[in-house]
Amino acid sequence: MLEVRDVRKSFDGFMAVSEGNLTVERGKIVAVIGPNGAGKSTLFKLITGHLKPDGGSIRYKGENIAGLPPYTICRRGISLSFQIVNIFHRLSVFDNVQAAILSRQRKTFNLFTPAGRLARDETMRIIDAVGLSDRVDAVSSTLAYGDQKVLEIAIALGNDPELLILDEPTAGMSPEETAATIGLIRRLTREMGLTILFCEHDMDLVFAIADEIMVMRQGATIIQGPGEVVRADPDVQEAYLGGGR
Ligand code: ADP
Ligand code: MG
Repeated sequence: MLEVRDVRKSFDGFMAVSEGNLTVERGKIVAVIGPNGAGKSTLFKLITGHLKPDGGSIRYKGENIAGLPPYTICRRGISLSFQIVNIFHRLSVFDNVQAAILSRQRKTFNLFTPAGRLARDETMRIIDAVGLSDRVDAVSSTLAYGDQKVLEIAIALGNDPELLILDEPTAGMSPEETAATIGLIRRLTREMGLTILFCEHDMDLVFAIADEIMVMRQGATIIQGPGEVVRADPDVQEAYLGGGR
């Protein structure tokens, strides 16, 4: 579904991503791990068009999407949920999700269609799927932090993606919120048929749910494979898991 080859990006001469390589098969959960500053968020922004690569190729369903603008990549089916919560704080949960759906459908409010009714079923279906139905009318800023992160996922789902990219979906969450989010990620792949690419600090979580793990270090991919393979790799142990393990 996604094939990233030798992708590069520098900022004022600093190579944030020097050799990004990644393969994502349809229906899988793929995790990217690596220390802070390894280039994970930059790689995700390159894939989704929020940054333009300096070189390399990014093929999605057979077509090169490298350098296309974010809205084009989003329309083709890739949606990114950012590391930093990025919601309309003064709008309700319902309105945040509905706005994402309407912008995808390019529907604007007019005199004859009250905005509240547009895409109501689809909005509720997504809110139910992520487990926020009891907070549907809540003003987003009043949600617990974990629920705000989940709302961010719901907004990404409003774009009707095939490939959902989550940048540290459980960062800052309590253990309970983290467990709920793991359940959500699993449901999204199994029940909604999504493919998920995410990065995450929590190693237990990564090894528990990812079908494949890609490891980055200083802007370069050092390995990609199933958990057992990655865990046993001497380079990974030395570079990342702290050796000895
Ligand atoms: P990660 O998500 O793995 O922690 P990032 O992709 O955010 O890493 O960052 C990789 C490196 O690139 C870091 O050293 C970071 O400081 C740098 N970087 C990221 N974005 C920018 C930017 N817009 N301008 C300059 N440097 C950046
Ligand atoms: Mg990051």
